[in-house]
Amino acid sequence: MSYDAVIVGAGPGGTAAALSLARRGLTNVLLLDRDGFPRDKTCGSGLSPTALTVLDELGVGDEVRAQAYPIMQVRVVTPGGREMILASNAAAVVMLRREFDYLLVQRATSLGVKLETGFRANELIKDGSGRVIGVRSLDGQERYGKYVLCADGAHSIFSKDPRPKRSISTLMGWWENFDFTPGQLDMVFDPEVSPLYGWMFPETNDRVNIGICVDGQDDDGQKSMRPLRGVFQSFLDRQYGTQLKKARQLGKWKGHPIVYTTWVGHCTAPGSLFLGEAARITHNATGEGISQAMQSGVFAAEAVQAALQGDEKGAWNRYVWQHRRRFTAGFLGGHALRAVVKTPLLDGVARLYNNPSVRKTVVRLLGSALAGTSVTDAQVDSVQRPAA
Ligand SMILES: Cc1cc2nc3c(=O)[nH]c(=O)nc-3n(C[C@H](O)[C@H](O)[C@H](O)COP(=O)(O)OP(=O)(O)OC[C@H]3O[C@@H](n4cnc5c(N)ncnc54)[C@H](O)[C@@H]3O)c2cc1C
Repeated sequence: MSYDAVIVGAGPGGTAAALSLARRGLTNVLLLDRDGFPRDKTCGSGLSPTALTVLDELGVGDEVRAQAYPIMQVRVVTPGGREMILASNAAAVVMLRREFDYLLVQRATSLGVKLETGFRANELIKDGSGRVIGVRSLDGQERYGKYVLCADGAHSIFSKDPRPKRSISTLMGWWENFDFTPGQLDMVFDPEVSPLYGWMFPETNDRVNIGICVDGQDDDGQKSMRPLRGVFQSFLDRQYGTQLKKARQLGKWKGHPIVYTTWVGHCTAPGSLFLGEAARITHNATGEGISQAMQSGVFAAEAVQAALQGDEKGAWNRYVWQHRRRFTAGFLGGHALRAVVKTPLLDGVARLYNNPSVRKTVVRLLGSALAGTSVTDAQVDSVQRPAA
């Protein structure tokens, strides 16, 4: 049997593509994953305002908000140890990836998309002209589609991007009985992990995840040999030593790379598209990748719909430029944020943060840099300094 689209990978990118295709009336779609659902994914599980906007467009925003943990404020700790509290007013949420990905998969199948788990894709099948026409699993099973969407994440075996991989290294853990301000997440620009940051994201009133991200490469582009476990332990001791004395760790620490690019490219081939983290579409300063993957999935669905109507070349070209228009400014903003973090600027801003006009500018600039997109006037106006 040949499907209109075969999607490899049922993370947020692949399921957003499946959902978006289904909402366009295209349900002859096969969604493949090596894992069964629900399954775990190493992730902070933070859904930004942009992620919620994409989820609204996919028709699942309200369902996610109803199940997720709402973030009411963000505590930013500067490299010099100063604090800024940014109100979020539930504009962002945290939802454990095990539950979030499962929700998206279930919604896609409820709209008619076929899900096949336990399928470990190993190779793209091509016709004599080199056009992708299907995918073969490690154990030799074959699935055919008019289009194959590769959404297999950071370790994509299909990515054909020849540029050296740039990545962020991460290490994180989960704790319960951890004492924190309800509804508050932390972004800690600790000098040890500069120019990136450490985080504390609450998943429920009692359970949090804490992690660090550091550059995966040294200045010369070589893989960083920093001893991540030691860096994480001293981050935990320094930033959360008191709370962790009472808290109980759940499971082991886990790490996973986050692959990024600044200029989206090498994400099309005859008969196939690469999307989400398989196309390196994540934010280089925050490591955010869920909203980008979902947006990328929506762009892919749009491109497949146009290609099925006969204009693959034009659709593939538009697909690349849609990504560039949507993400490049934000990714450049990420590099700017990395540069700022290395200077005393954030500490200076934190000193002036009580001034309302400074606060509005900070919310606009920092919000845009963190989100990788521009912050709207309404979002800026909604920001109040929460009562101490
Ligand atoms: C520690 C950490 C914390 C993070 N925190 C956040 C955060 O708080 N917020 C945020 O927005 N982003 C965060 N990210 C980034 C985010 O997790 C990813 O960018 C995002 O999941 C990418 O989505 P995706 O759909 O492209 O790929 P993935 O979510 O990686 O999904 C890929 C899917 O493909 C499947 N797959 C892979 N290979 C094969 C194969 N060969 N055959 C079949 N199936 C296959 C996998 O099983 C998986 O289901 C974090 C990342 C890390 C590592």
